[in-house]
Amino acid sequence: MIVMKFGGTSVQDAKAIDRVAHIVQGRLADRPLVVVSAMAKVTDSLLAMGKAAGSGDRKTALKMARALRERHYDTAGELLGTALFTEFHGDLGADFEDLDELLRGIGAVGEITPRTYDYVASFGEVLSSKIVAAAFVARELPGAHVDSRQCLLTDNSYTRAVPQVEETSERLRRRVQPLVDAGKVPVMGGFIGSNAAGITTTIGRGGSDFSAAIFGAALNAQRIEIWTDVDGMMTTDPRLCPDARRIKTISFDEAAELAYFGAKVLHPATVLPAIQKNIPVYVLNSQNPTCEGTKITARAPRTRNIFKAIAAKKRITIIDVAAPRMLLAHGFLKAIFDAFDRHGVVVDVVSTSEVSVSLTVDSNEAIPELAADLAKLADVKYEGRKAIVCLVGENLRDTPGIAAKVFGILEDMKIRMISQGASEINLTFVIEEDDAAEVVRRLHQAFFAEADPEVFG
Ligand code: ADP
Ligand code: ASP
Ligand code: MG
Repeated sequence: MIVMKFGGTSVQDAKAIDRVAHIVQGRLADRPLVVVSAMAKVTDSLLAMGKAAGSGDRKTALKMARALRERHYDTAGELLGTALFTEFHGDLGADFEDLDELLRGIGAVGEITPRTYDYVASFGEVLSSKIVAAAFVARELPGAHVDSRQCLLTDNSYTRAVPQVEETSERLRRRVQPLVDAGKVPVMGGFIGSNAAGITTTIGRGGSDFSAAIFGAALNAQRIEIWTDVDGMMTTDPRLCPDARRIKTISFDEAAELAYFGAKVLHPATVLPAIQKNIPVYVLNSQNPTCEGTKITARAPRTRNIFKAIAAKKRITIIDVAAPRMLLAHGFLKAIFDAFDRHGVVVDVVSTSEVSVSLTVDSNEAIPELAADLAKLADVKYEGRKAIVCLVGENLRDTPGIAAKVFGILEDMKIRMISQGASEINLTFVIEEDDAAEVVRRLHQAFFAEADPEVFG
């Protein structure tokens, strides 16, 4: 069997879902399990509704919910035709009644918790997976909707819940494998799960890719296909740099670094389950399905180019912790990292001197609280509007003079932190956010103007 995951733009309207049905039809012999995201922009809009209701603005929240209802009804109506849509209408309607009731409840309390945010956000994938399954049936594809919340068990960390892989795999083998064996095409929402108490959770933004990989690993898929709106993993974000080239094959390690440092095309955790079972992952374009896309696999061919790709991650804050009185004091780093741990804040890049440590974190984190805690240990400063740039490639291991080349190209730029060596395959540095686009374009021009045709499409 295989897993085929379709992202938001791939299910954004009736035309897109119709394309999905055709793509899946062409793969029936491979016995696909289909995972879908919410329709494009729906998760953002659900979270905005939750926020509006939480601030007491029930009217706006319900108005947005009405627009969402219409969009889903229109899409389903177009896909299903009158008779089937009439049959299906009640099911969708019940979900929208639940959503309205939830928003009214949040509005009445005037507060929204992470737990409630997750419940609100889950409607996106619940609705899209039902519509896609119904559209399959209408096209004589044997689609069978499965509620992912009954399969994906997570812990209780609402909004970024951690999947409990063993129990999830067990449930998938019990509930989903028999459907595949019977020739059905299970259709499941990504991103959503539930905890041991049965309360809905989500596994973090962009998490449908991760869901697909967990499902694929549990069912020993031959491959996991991530269908999106670009031709594959590219040498850099094509939105930043229109010259970006498709990478034909990339290693799990390279892909993981890129995803972690900002290549939004793949959720950073996606490759973990694939690595464990050595399952190849393909990134493919649902708007250009004949393109070969990118194959992510244990071993990728060496290229004549030094790098495979450049990623950039914006909205970064640098935290500087300086402790002049604690020169060389052992235990200082531990105390710093303990503080990050207590606040559940993830560190991306670290650099140290004898008396100070600089760390980067995502600007969405609870930084003032963390800084107040760190201030008990040392002098703390933090500064937002930074970006991480990350150059990735297996050739970094044994090519001399790379840093000179990279920073030579950026000689007039303010480089705030540099890190190389931790993984042997990336060179990472931190710059001003406003410089990110220019830096990426310059580096791309320098390192990819001539791209090895064996490796780049
Ligand atoms: P989906 O909704 O299918 O999950 P996403 O929006 O999450 O799609 O990811 C696809 C987007 O990722 C692309 O449209 C592209 O702008 C962006 N992106 C960022 N870096 C890269 C990269 N290196 N290669 C391809 N796409 C990238
Ligand atoms: N719909 C979710 C999001 O927008 C999950 C995903 O698309 O992967 O974050
Ligand atoms: Mg995505």
